[in-house]
Amino acid sequence: MTDKITNIENTRGDINLPFGIYIHIPFCKKKCNYCDFVSIANDNLMCEDSKFIDKYLQALSNEITSKIATLNNYLPKTIYIGGGTPSILSEKQIIFLFENLYKNLKKQFSNEEIETIFEVNPESITSHKLETLKIYGVNRLSFGLQSYNDRILKFLGRIHTVKDFCSAYDLAKRIGYKNINVDLMFGIPEQSLDDWKETLNKTIDLNPEHISIYGLTIEAGTKFFSSGITVNDDLSADMYKFAIEFLKEKGYHHYEISNFSKKGYECLHNINYWQNNQYYGFGLGATSYINKKRIKNTEDIKEYINGKYDLEFEELGEEKKMSESLMLGLRLIDGVIISDSIKIKYNKQINNLKNLDLLIEHNNLIRLSDKGIMYANCVFREFL
Ligand code: SF4
Repeated sequence: MTDKITNIENTRGDINLPFGIYIHIPFCKKKCNYCDFVSIANDNLMCEDSKFIDKYLQALSNEITSKIATLNNYLPKTIYIGGGTPSILSEKQIIFLFENLYKNLKKQFSNEEIETIFEVNPESITSHKLETLKIYGVNRLSFGLQSYNDRILKFLGRIHTVKDFCSAYDLAKRIGYKNINVDLMFGIPEQSLDDWKETLNKTIDLNPEHISIYGLTIEAGTKFFSSGITVNDDLSADMYKFAIEFLKEKGYHHYEISNFSKKGYECLHNINYWQNNQYYGFGLGATSYINKKRIKNTEDIKEYINGKYDLEFEELGEEKKMSESLMLGLRLIDGVIISDSIKIKYNKQINNLKNLDLLIEHNNLIRLSDKGIMYANCVFREFL
């Protein structure tokens, strides 16, 4: 894991501390029924037009060039290309993206020390794209599988099948990717506990280095929301509990509420977020957190393409920073260091949560108990 929480106050306005880079590719072939991410789907026509994606990539490159000078040649610890569906890009577009990023960073293509992650959806990845990504230093893939059941995938509005995923995963392994994450989803109305067990069992059979599991939530503005779909919270909790025990038994280290890995394969990029360290976010709707300032990019694609990137700017005061560090840090199963100022400000809340067996304090750290992991959102609310 990376260093414990870093004191961002020490910065002189430049980046000499651990930081990550996130790049958002907001295009998808079709909008999934549960999706509230910043993504533009074919329904919107623009996505079908590869020239439109080219324009976006040019705007992205311009944004990176305009902001990256502040890095003073420091290299990021991690690079994450997420979406949307980054694997929707053609090989030519992938090359354009990395060439421009690395030119700005003055980074060599293949630098194993930088964790470089690319999100992949099974239906849009090819052997040529995977080989190209490898040349450009991508050393970790994150597959959006969600379920090992075609009926459930269809219900979710995903456009891949289990067969598509198996072929793509197999291809990635044959091409030599040794660090692969598989995203799974539970708490889906069409899904029984046995369906979920089957998904976990079949995923384990593939022996991926990392597994992320997310409970379905119904967000406003999604197709599920407008259809009145609801989640059975009790069944969802049973599925989560089963997964924690099952994955631990199978040798996966539960290091964050939703994340499990083989030893040494924790996602450094996400750990950087949970430790409330700095990051640059480039692209539509992306957020950056640099020198105690949060900058949120516009979610309007036309604005973005016309070079109007930043939308909101928030300077985080001490209290907000403390509250965020606690809520993010408690997501990590090892917990978070409690400084004297945290102790003073949140003494009452910490003691109440300890009395309810939701928090454990040990050696100047607090962490969620097993019960606290199940009620994490209730714990976080206490620190808002
Ligand atoms: S593939 Fe991911 S980002 Fe795209 S619509 Fe589906 S859930 Fe949203």
